[in-house]
Parts: sequence; C-alpha cells; structure tokens
Amino acid sequence: MKLDRYIDTFLDFIYPRNIYCILCNESIEKTEKYSLCQSCKEKINFIADRICEKCGKPLDDFYLSKECPDCIKTKHYFTKGFSCVEYNEHMKELVHKLKYKNHRYIAYHMAEMMISQLKKHDLNDIDYIVPVPLYKKKERKRGFNQSELLSKYIGKVMNWKVEKNNLIKIKDTKSQNQLNKDERKNNLENAFFVQAKEDFVDKNILLVDDVYTTGSTIDACSKEIRKAKPKEIYSISFATGKNINF
Ligand SMILES: [Zn+2]
Ligand SMILES: [Zn+2]
Repeated sequence: MKLDRYIDTFLDFIYPRNIYCILCNESIEKTEKYSLCQSCKEKINFIADRICEKCGKPLDDFYLSKECPDCIKTKHYFTKGFSCVEYNEHMKELVHKLKYKNHRYIAYHMAEMMISQLKKHDLNDIDYIVPVPLYKKKERKRGFNQSELLSKYIGKVMNWKVEKNNLIKIKDTKSQNQLNKDERKNNLENAFFVQAKEDFVDKNILLVDDVYTTGSTIDACSKEIRKAKPKEIYSISFATGKNINF
C-alpha cells in the first residue's frame, strides 16, 4: 500500500491532480476519462453500434442497408475503416486546437478514444501503422503531423510498429475543405507515393488520420499502397461525418 501511495504522489507530480478538460478548459479530476468534463462528454457522439460495414460511419436506426449511401456508390480501396466520434462543431474545435493552436497533448486523448474503438473490433494483427502524410513543406510549417502523433500513441499501446517514412505526400494539394467529392478526389490524384513497395508486400496496414469525410484521403493513400500488394488495408480516424452531406 505504501508503494501505491508513492506511485500516486509520483504520478501527481507528472500529471497534477487538477487537470483541465481538453474542450472547455474547466478544471477536472484526473480520473475523468479522455480528460473531458461531464458536460463536454455529453456534447460528443461516440460512435457505437450501427456502423457502415465498410467505412465505419454511424448509421441511423431506420437505415436498412449495412453500408452507408456513400460506400454503396463509391468503390473504396481500403478493406475496412473505423472512426470514434461524430464530427460536430465541438469536434471541429478540438481538431482545430490540435492542428492550428499547437495543443499537442490533445492528440494523446484522441488516440485513447481511437484505441478503445480499435479494441472493440477484431482486426488482424497490424504489421504497420501508417500515418496519413503531410506534404513536407506543410509539415515544417505546422511543426508536426497530427496523424503521426496519433499513430505514435496508438502504436505504443497496441504494440504495433509505426512506419512513417514509406508513404509520402509528393504533391502540395489544395485544402480539401471547400471542395466537393469529385474535386477532392481529383485534388489528391497521384498525391501519395510508397517509396519501398517491397516493405508493404503481404502486410496488414492501418492508416491513421484525424478526420474522415468523404474518404478521399484514405482512398488516395490506399490506392497507392495497393500497388505494393499488401494483405489488408484498414483505417482509423478520430472523427467522421454521419452522412454524405459534405
Ligand atoms: Zn469540458
Ligand atoms: Zn460507408
């Protein structure tokens, strides 16, 4: 028991007892899951039961098909995708804080949510976690790649290797935000490249990204990785939209 107390004191030293909610910055107990206060937890729609069998988007109860309308229409290059939360204004703010305000600790808590989603699903052993890469110039400007941060935490907990140098982005593409689905796809045409294809042969790959919208980024990466003849390509993103209104 004595040792427990020492450890507790030691942990308090590293992570002070009063920490802050990652969304509203209110002081919270350190035992709060994902470092979110109760009221912020209620603002989040965690993706639970009914999901699209292909891309992992949540499906409405009254919707009968096993795949979302988007996946019925579009052929995807990945095997199966998963997401943790529905993208709403609060999640937009959270991702924004991480990407543009340099609040890197948020990635740790996002990764925690991604890990609990991954554990719920029976994935084959993953050989490589591959973060969706940024164009080098963009990464230098931001100072980090958020998908790489997420990948690092996931890799550490799941004991999967992170391969961040093989898939690279070779085209400085326009921001996807203002583009429609077809424009997004064209924008990413030949944007990614696998340098050492032999390393991905017969491997199970898990692509990691922060937000999944139409799936065009994950698809463009998967299309390129497919050329290396991997076994399966899975994807996990932190947030995703409910339907195709993007
Ligand atoms: Zn809060
Ligand atoms: Zn789908």
